[in-house]
Amino acid sequence: MADTPETAPPKPRPSAGTFDELPLHPSLRRGIAEMGYLEPTPIQRDAIPAAVGGRDLIGTAQTGTGKTAAFLLPILERLMAAPRGRIHALVLTPTRELALQAVGFLEALGRHSELRSGAVYGGVGMAEQERALRGRAEIIVATPGRLLDHMSRGYVNFRELSILVLDEADRMLDMGFLPDVRRILRELPSRRQTLLFSATMPPEVLQLAREFLHDPKTVQVGETTAAAVGVSHLALPVPAHRKTDLLRALLEDETMTSVLVFARTKHRADRLARQLALAGLDVGVIHGNRSQNQRVQALERFRAGRHRLLVATDIAARGIDVEGISHVVNYDLPDVPEAYIHRVGRTARASLQGVALSFFSADEENDFHRIERHLGVKIPLSRVPGFDYERPAPALSGAAASRRGSGGDDRRRGGRTQYGGRAPYREQRGGGERFNRQRRDSRGRR
Ligand code: AMP
Repeated sequence: MADTPETAPPKPRPSAGTFDELPLHPSLRRGIAEMGYLEPTPIQRDAIPAAVGGRDLIGTAQTGTGKTAAFLLPILERLMAAPRGRIHALVLTPTRELALQAVGFLEALGRHSELRSGAVYGGVGMAEQERALRGRAEIIVATPGRLLDHMSRGYVNFRELSILVLDEADRMLDMGFLPDVRRILRELPSRRQTLLFSATMPPEVLQLAREFLHDPKTVQVGETTAAAVGVSHLALPVPAHRKTDLLRALLEDETMTSVLVFARTKHRADRLARQLALAGLDVGVIHGNRSQNQRVQALERFRAGRHRLLVATDIAARGIDVEGISHVVNYDLPDVPEAYIHRVGRTARASLQGVALSFFSADEENDFHRIERHLGVKIPLSRVPGFDYERPAPALSGAAASRRGSGGDDRRRGGRTQYGGRAPYREQRGGGERFNRQRRDSRGRR
């Protein structure tokens, strides 16, 4: 299966020159060097000069290509000499995790500048955020709902704002977020620079985006319908009640070192995490019903390698930038094909190799084909040798059934899976081309 050209992702453009060729202040170049970035990624090379020059921008690039720094560096550069104590730039993101991440990058990249940033998102106290909004930060990264809360209290002053970024713009401009985003935009000066970044950009969203932009330059790296470069995709058809056991069988493969598992609902995520924990696996869970603390903790443990598995709902799909996720498993397929791209983009970050495994049961077959059509490729199917796909669902009483959940326990019933040895999906690895990523050390993330 190593040579399945239909699934080969598009090749990234060759080397993108050096950071010295970009119009960036020496103090920013120091920050960049300390992050271990040796050369700009293609999106950075294309976007930074235009954005530093003041142009509006629509940037589309696959996940994991360095989009965040592509919009944060121009902000830092343009604000280098701006007076302190006022909000000059606002970055809107759909999730708290993304907001925290962006602020982490701002602090690291802007370490040698005097610019300050603050994250504003729900689920935590207002006081510190209020201080940031009252002049403690020149750059605010916010989720829309919480920012509107603060704005309604009357102390947020956007009169000096000169740069707005919509990160994950396709999501920010969809029906869920759009009313909030419009309310915020109404309060911003109309003479400003607007940058819009996303991995996917459906035409109707693009149309809408143009309302907010003035003569934008479009910067596109790779196909926006494509998933991250470096990801090998495999699909595993499986009866719904056998999904948990299939996952456990796969996990006998020790190369699955750091596995992000997506479930469709909070309830299914919780149940799966419980089943895996009962089977002795180190697993964390992250979804919208978990407190901010629990979410941060689960993510930190996963990042630190203390959890081999993190079970998540789609809320986590865009927010997670964890180095070295070896596998993304779609325990349930996402509802919309765009979400597939974002999910699998959590692996193969910055061009490392990764594997995306998608389980699908009979009633998910249509969703699967929709994803294939959206990606424009055929995802190879695979079966785990020796795994008993046909084992019937255990006939349990209601209470016991809900305790047990879907999928039984092979070991307890003496039916230990025979899965072992070389996993078929591993033959898929190595298909992706890398952009030239040479990093010396950690990224100084918070
Ligand atoms: P993003 O697409 O912004 O989510 O970034 C994905 C990952 O690429 C992050 O972990 C960044 O730290 C990393 N990254 C961004 N720019 C570069 C660069 N020029 N060289 C190497 N890694 C980078």
